[in-house]
Amino acid sequence: MNIANDNASKAAPCPICRKPSTQTYRPFCSKRCADVDLARWLGGTYAIPAPPVDPDEEDDEPVQRRPAPRDED
Ligand SMILES: [Zn+2]
Repeated sequence: MNIANDNASKAAPCPICRKPSTQTYRPFCSKRCADVDLARWLGGTYAIPAPPVDPDEEDDEPVQRRPAPRDED
């Protein structure tokens, strides 16, 4: 009796790679896919380890704030 194979056919496929999920890592097929899903949740988006740096903010020069000229006086 092949219970594992029967369960795999009933279970939904792995949401990451669409392979049949396993009992151990369901609903995923493997620990790797489970980790991928976890990373998606933690990061909010997929495969972005750090927020993008604005090119302007990489510059070390301090930003000079010029007050807007008051034309309507
Ligand atoms: Zn998978």
